[in-house]
Amino acid sequence: MAKVEIKYTKLFINNEWVDAVSKKTFPTINPQDETVITQVAEGDKADVDLAVAAAKKAFHRYSEWRTLDASQRGLLLLKLADLMERDAKYLAELETLDCGKPVKQAEGEVLWSAGIIRYYAGKADKILGNTIPADGDVMTFTLKEPVGVCGQILPWNYPIPMFVWKIAPAFAAGCTVVLKPAEQTPLTALAMAALVKEAGFPAGVLNVIPGYGPTAGAAISHHPDIDKVAFTGSTEVGRIIMGAASAVNLKRVTLELGGKSALVVFNDADVEKAAEIAHRAAFANAGQCCVAGTRTYVQSGIYDKFVAKAAEIAKKRSVGNPYTDVQQGPQIDNDMFTKVMGYIEAGKKGGARCVAGGDRQGKVGYFVQPTVFADVKDDMKIAREEIFGPVQSILKFETFEEVVDRANDSNYGLGAGVITNDITTALAFIKHVRAGSMWVNTYDQVSPQTPFGGFKESGIGRELVNTYEHVTPQTPFGGFKESGIGRELGEDGILQYLENKTVSFSLPKKPQ
Ligand code: NAD
Repeated sequence: MAKVEIKYTKLFINNEWVDAVSKKTFPTINPQDETVITQVAEGDKADVDLAVAAAKKAFHRYSEWRTLDASQRGLLLLKLADLMERDAKYLAELETLDCGKPVKQAEGEVLWSAGIIRYYAGKADKILGNTIPADGDVMTFTLKEPVGVCGQILPWNYPIPMFVWKIAPAFAAGCTVVLKPAEQTPLTALAMAALVKEAGFPAGVLNVIPGYGPTAGAAISHHPDIDKVAFTGSTEVGRIIMGAASAVNLKRVTLELGGKSALVVFNDADVEKAAEIAHRAAFANAGQCCVAGTRTYVQSGIYDKFVAKAAEIAKKRSVGNPYTDVQQGPQIDNDMFTKVMGYIEAGKKGGARCVAGGDRQGKVGYFVQPTVFADVKDDMKIAREEIFGPVQSILKFETFEEVVDRANDSNYGLGAGVITNDITTALAFIKHVRAGSMWVNTYDQVSPQTPFGGFKESGIGRELVNTYEHVTPQTPFGGFKESGIGRELGEDGILQYLENKTVSFSLPKKPQ
């Protein structure tokens, strides 16, 4: 077990570390051994009010932040990315302690996130409005302006990347932020806040309030002085947040929610390669991935061979101490562990054939065996509901039309994948399946241009961390249907932090 120094456990408001007004704290738990790592200040409404006041002041029209050149905002973001690379090893070890993901994967995520910050740093001074040839005696243009004070509520599955997906476009756009990390993983958000301060962002631009959803989270979604809320997490909580936003001040809402994504393998696929892709799609991050491809549809001609291969790969997946070179650590907490084990039981009782795993691993910590169910039917619980654990469901299909209907038969629409060598099949699949991200002959996308690897004394070689797959900073990510509203990353990601102001000048055809 690595010894990781915990430097920050207080709330971060107006560039200061402070106790909660209530003086309350809450424990954060190590999912590997179920011990308390440390106590963290527990923010609630009173603290959110202070944080919003600081963020509002930082957003005042004459504030240091609002009067900064856009290019300077970009430079601050670049500095933040450099600091993340400097501290990559520390951030990764802290992330592993708090959320249990393999440390090598955590390192990759830190460096991937630094790349996302650099992408948005470059965007800061390229936010362009339009000139519009409007009817009448007017000259018309649009200005893109920051939306204002933003509330950002994060999940626990990718704490550092989710922090970055939220703050980087917000800062590039010129917004200020009140952010709540998930109660399971507050530590790296606080470490990142320290880097934001060190990079030189003015006081109040970022405020971080660890705490629970129904208290601190609800205070954010209900706050009348928050102009926009961005949320990643469950569809159930997404609905609550949207309701609060609509009831209070119609704050803008972006939601990145759950999924039950289908990956479809046609008869012409190379079975070995397809089984590898499908394995990674289902088991990445111990299955705790919103876009996980957990419904694996396989055409009947290769079905038996595929199932055997999928079981073989899952049985070889290494699970254990995340500070060692394993592929999978523990699930995040006891609740999720219990929930995942409940789905595994439901799969067995429901008549699916368990061909790998099917049990917990070890007696201490929230470890679950990589589990594969074959002969899954569309109406089974494990085929319909998001499990958010290392469980793959394999379903058999016969025809293209049938599998498109079945892939679309879900309230979710986050991702989908197709594995085939037939271009027409691939394009038709893309056209007819309703999901926000589509992958052909891959799942999640390797990004060669993403700076996987450390600079200078970070001591992390590029090849060491280039083992992990991610969506790219340049491509928008988000869902159809109940998988969410809006997009993150890419050009679309920054638009969600901008308002569009239309300006019309009266201009007679001929000046008098
Ligand atoms: P959750 O949606 O309850 O929590 C996510 C965030 O929302 C946390 O920061 C939490 O404190 C906050 N929150 C909770 N209730 C809130 C409220 N009433 N108002 C404002 N904020 C609130 O997710 P969870 O309980 O950690 O996980 C449950 C399920 O959510 C998982 O099984 C999985 O299906 C899904 N999930 C999805 C993602 C994703 O990336 N889309 C991430 C985590 C969890």
